[in-house]
Amino acid sequence: MTRTARALITYGAVLRTVCSLLGLNVQPVSTTEERRKQAVIAIALALPVTLIFALINYFQFHFEELAQAEITVAVLFLLPAFLLLNTDRAIGWAESLILWYGIFISSALIVYGGLEGSGVLWVFTYPFLAFFIKGQRLGWLYCLAWVAVCWLAVKLLGNLPHAWHYPDAYVGQMIPALLFYSTMAAAFNLVRARFEEMLHDKVETNTARARAYLDQLQFLAQHDEVTGLPNRNRLIVLLEEAIAQCNTAQEAIVVIDLRLERLFEISNILGERGGDLLMESIAHSLQERYGKIGYLGRLRRDEFGFFYQTELQNTKPCKLAEAVSDIALSYQVDNYPIHIENSIGIALYPQHAQTTADMWLKAEQAMLHGRANKLDISIYNEELNQQFVRRNLLFGQLRHALSNQELSLHFQPQIDLKTGRLVGAEALARWRTGSGQYISPAEFIPVAESSGLIKPFTKWLLSEFFRQTAQWRQAGMDLLFSVNLSARNLADPELISDLRHLLAFHAIPAENIVLEITECSFSDSPDQFMMTVDQLHRMGFRQSIDDFGTGYSSLSYLKDLRVNELKIDQSFVTNLTSEKSCIAIVKSTIQLAHNLGLTVVAEGIESEAVAAFLRDAGCDIGQGYYYSKPLPVDAFFSYASSSTMP
Ligand code: C2E
Ligand code: MG
Ligand code: MG
Repeated sequence: MTRTARALITYGAVLRTVCSLLGLNVQPVSTTEERRKQAVIAIALALPVTLIFALINYFQFHFEELAQAEITVAVLFLLPAFLLLNTDRAIGWAESLILWYGIFISSALIVYGGLEGSGVLWVFTYPFLAFFIKGQRLGWLYCLAWVAVCWLAVKLLGNLPHAWHYPDAYVGQMIPALLFYSTMAAAFNLVRARFEEMLHDKVETNTARARAYLDQLQFLAQHDEVTGLPNRNRLIVLLEEAIAQCNTAQEAIVVIDLRLERLFEISNILGERGGDLLMESIAHSLQERYGKIGYLGRLRRDEFGFFYQTELQNTKPCKLAEAVSDIALSYQVDNYPIHIENSIGIALYPQHAQTTADMWLKAEQAMLHGRANKLDISIYNEELNQQFVRRNLLFGQLRHALSNQELSLHFQPQIDLKTGRLVGAEALARWRTGSGQYISPAEFIPVAESSGLIKPFTKWLLSEFFRQTAQWRQAGMDLLFSVNLSARNLADPELISDLRHLLAFHAIPAENIVLEITECSFSDSPDQFMMTVDQLHRMGFRQSIDDFGTGYSSLSYLKDLRVNELKIDQSFVTNLTSEKSCIAIVKSTIQLAHNLGLTVVAEGIESEAVAAFLRDAGCDIGQGYYYSKPLPVDAFFSYASSSTMP
C-alpha cells in the first residue's frame, strides 16, 4: 500500500471520527409538523424580543441605526417566514429566512451594540438556534456563515459613525470565539439529538411491541387459538359478506354445522396436548377439503362450521349429502389411530333463513336433530324447527314444573293373567302444567334426558315413588311396584347410593321394587349398563327389560344380564290378534323369556281377546287399558282395595 493511500485512509478515519463527534451523521428526525412548530416558536420569540430591543436601542441608547436595522430585518425576514410556514414545501425556506434574520441581527448587534450594551451577549444564542432549527449538518453551514458575516461586518462596517470600535486584538479573536460557541451549540444539539433518538427508538420498540400484542389480540378475537381458524364471530361476518354478494335467483349458500362426537372423552385420554394436536389435524383435513370452496371456522370446542356458495341445483338433498360424504373420520395423533364420529346439520340460504345468526342456528338445529336421531346428515326443515322450539319451550316449563309441584305419579295396575289378581303396578310420571294441559312423559322425558334436568327429575321421581309405596305397604298393600329408569339414570354414578339411601330410609325390601330399563340403554354403553344392572341385582332389586323388541341390541346379552322380567312392547300386543307377525313375535318372546327363567309382562292390553290370547300363550302378567288406565294415587288405592289382594 502506498504512503498516500495509507495517509488517505488515516485522514478518512479522522474525518469520520470528527464527523461523528460533531454529529454530522445524525439524521434529522423532526417531522414537518414538528419543524413548523419549532419555526413558529422561534418567530414568536424573536419578533417581540427584536421589537423590545429596537425600542430600547432607539429611546434609551439612541442607536437609531441599530433600531432601524433590527426592525427592518425583522419585518423583511420574519414576517415572510411566518407566511411561508403555511405551505409544507416552503418550511425549509421559512427556516432559512429565520436563520438569515439571526445572522443579520447578530452582525448589527456586534457592529452597533459592541461591548457596551447587553446586545453582544445575545449574539451567542445564534448557534443554538441554528442547530435547533436546521439540525446537525445544515446547522454547521449556518454557523460558519454566521461567523463569516459577523467578522466581515465588523471589518467592513466598523468605521461607521455609531459603530463600536473594537481593538484589533478583539477582532482577531472573534473568529475562534464564535467558532467555539458554534461547537458548544453543536455539542449541545448532538446530546439533544442523541437523547431524542434514544427516546424515539424506545417509543418505536414499545409501540411495535404494543402493536404486535394488539394484532395478536385482534387475531384471537376473531380466530380460534388452537387451529388458527376463524371463530364463530368471524364466521358470522364472513357469512354476512357472502350473503350480501349472493345472487339469490341462481345461487344458494350452504351452511354446515359439524359436531364431533365424544371429543371430550377422547381429549381426556389424549391429554391437553394430544387433544390440541387432534384438533389441529381435524382442522387441517377440513381446511384441505372445504377451504378451497368456502370458509371454514371453529364454532365451539367440538363444533366446526363452514359454508360455501353454490348453484341452486346443487342444493338437492342428494347433492348436499354427496358434498359432505367424504369428511374424514380417522386421524393420527402421535401414531395412534383415532376414529371420531360426527353429526352434520345443513341449512340453506335463502330457503331456510335470511340472517346470518339464523343460518347458524338452523344448521345447528339440524345437527342436533340428526344427532338425537342418529343420522349422519340432517338437512333443516320447518317441522324440525317446530320440534326444536317446542323442546326449548318444554325445557323452560319443565324446570318450572319441578319447583312448582306440577308433576305427579300415576300407577297402572298389573294383573296376573292366570288368576286375574292384581299383583303390581307401574309408576308413570304425569305432568299437568299450570294452565291445565297434560304433557306426555314420552315428550318431556327425552327433554329432561338431553339436559341436566334429568337429575332433579329423577330425584323427585324416586323419592315420590318410594314415599308412596312405603305408605301403601304400611297400609297392608303387598304389591310389586315398578318404576322406569332412563338410560341417563343408569349412567349416573349417584344412582346406586340414592337408591340405597331410599331403601334404608323407607325400610322397603328391594325385592318388592321392579326397576324398568329399556333396551336402548344397553346400546349406548353396554359395559356400563351391564355393570349397573349387576350392581342393582346384587342390591336385591327386581329388574325388567321394558319395551322389549323395539331396541336393536343383540339377544346374546340377555343370557348374561341379571334381570328378572321382560316386558313385551305394546306395539306387538295391542293388535296381537289381528297381525300374524305379532303373534309369532309374542309367542317366541314368551318362550325365550321362560327358557331364560324370566317373568313375561305384556303391556298395552286393550281387549279381552288379547288378554285371553296372552293367557293361553303362557304370558304371566298383563297391563293395559283393558284392566285400567294409569290412575292417580287415590284412585289406584281404591282400585287396589276393591281388587282381590294376593
Ligand atoms: P312405558 O314404560 O313403556 O310405559 C307404558 C306406556 O304405555 C305408558 O305411557 C302407559 O300409559 C301406556 N299404556 C299402558 N297401557 C296402555 C294401553 O293399553 N294402550 C296404550 N295405547 N297405551 C298404554 P306413558 O305414561 O305415556 O309413558 C310413556 C313412556 O314414558 C313410558 O313407557 C316410559 O318409557 C316413559 N316414562 C313414563 N314415566 C316415566 C318415569 O317416571 N321415568 C322415566 N324414566 N320414564 C317414564
Ligand atoms: Mg315402563
Ligand atoms: Mg313399555
